[in-house]
Amino acid sequence: EPCAPGRGDATRLLELDRAHVWHPYGPMPGQETPLLVESASGVRLRLAEPVEGRTELIDAMSSWWAAIHGYGHPALDAAVRDQLGRMSHVMFGGLTHEPAIRLAARLVEITPEPLEHVFLADSGSVSVEVAVKMCLQYWRSLGRPAKHRLLTWRGGYHGDTFLPMSVCDPDGGMHSLWTGVLPRQIFADAPPAGFDAEPDPAYLTHLADLIGRHAHELAAVVVEPVAQNAGGMRFHSPGYLRALRELCDAHDVLLVFDEIATGFGRTGAFFAADHAAVAPDVMCVGKALTGGYLTMAAALCTSEVAYGIGRGEHPVLAHGPTFMANPLAAAVARASLDLLGDGAWEAQVKRVEAGLRAGLAPARELDGVRDVRVLGAIGVIQLDREVDRVAATRAAVRHGVWIRPFRDLIYTMPPYVTGDADLARITAALVAAAGATP
Ligand code: PLP
Repeated sequence: EPCAPGRGDATRLLELDRAHVWHPYGPMPGQETPLLVESASGVRLRLAEPVEGRTELIDAMSSWWAAIHGYGHPALDAAVRDQLGRMSHVMFGGLTHEPAIRLAARLVEITPEPLEHVFLADSGSVSVEVAVKMCLQYWRSLGRPAKHRLLTWRGGYHGDTFLPMSVCDPDGGMHSLWTGVLPRQIFADAPPAGFDAEPDPAYLTHLADLIGRHAHELAAVVVEPVAQNAGGMRFHSPGYLRALRELCDAHDVLLVFDEIATGFGRTGAFFAADHAAVAPDVMCVGKALTGGYLTMAAALCTSEVAYGIGRGEHPVLAHGPTFMANPLAAAVARASLDLLGDGAWEAQVKRVEAGLRAGLAPARELDGVRDVRVLGAIGVIQLDREVDRVAATRAAVRHGVWIRPFRDLIYTMPPYVTGDADLARITAALVAAAGATP
């Protein structure tokens, strides 16, 4: 049924939404009332009708950590418009195009040195699927098919399709419903918390023991470097990445870094693995790759992995989504990397980090707050109980700020371009949201 957008239609649109639209992690359609967004510009979302007296909300989530330059950036808008004038999409099987070629070459240039080959996937979860497929197929090609399992950390999150779900946190995590159906992977404890902490020798022994014991069946270790995000917003020492690299080398196991959430500056380094100067064999990027404009992710691998697969009995990596290497997404990704290329992001993220540290500190004094932590442009308030999401979100909206708390966590990952006054509103909103859970 046609429904022209506009203020007067808000009620009707929301009725249609309730009747027909399934939202992420929603219960049955219609049980959660989303806010109707009319447009977005800079760091602000404009609502179609007032909520808690607000029609504009600062997006403290960067649209799930992707819109690092904010909305409606002139350079990103222009990149999409220019590319749209040429072609919006062509199949990538047997055809290629400049936006994909230039983006792949740029990704190889900016990622750790041994990564040479780029698979342009259409979502983060698919890039993880592809990364793991690369690892499994590599060992098959080398005549070692027994190496087909994965080791990961508890407390991780790698996506919602079936293989990535198997390496998400198994203990009460989002996908524990599927325990028993998913491929059985090997879980190490989550690394001890604290970005600045020295690696814990007992934990290193735990890792070494597990990897050593399972090496014969391990294809790869798959982890989020430095910051575990949707699994619990936890930060750990870069030292654990160095330890993993050594252990993987010693035991013939591939190392996969999932930088989908952490890549492109979020933790204060361009890639989180840069904190440790460690290179993986396979790496996934997504989310902020396109500045949050369009859906694209990538799995990069070394020549050892790519040519290893190529030498096998089945030398084809059998994966090719319809929208692989979409030219609009590739063009805007390159424009986003150009924006990052002037290096201004580093000062922006440092400024955001300082603002988050100062602004979230008062939350430490609140009843029921277990921890307050900040790394780069990530700020987290952890409660000692489940957040009342409705009450917390409403408190933030009253401050003119959009957040999406989960479990015991109220957090922000704001766009890097968020100004100081808006940052202060974000932190005040988070503190108010923390106080809103009885
Ligand atoms: N890996 C990590 C570390 C993520 O944070 C996410 C999304 O939150 C994914 C993978 C999945 O990406 P997508 O939602 O684009 O499928």
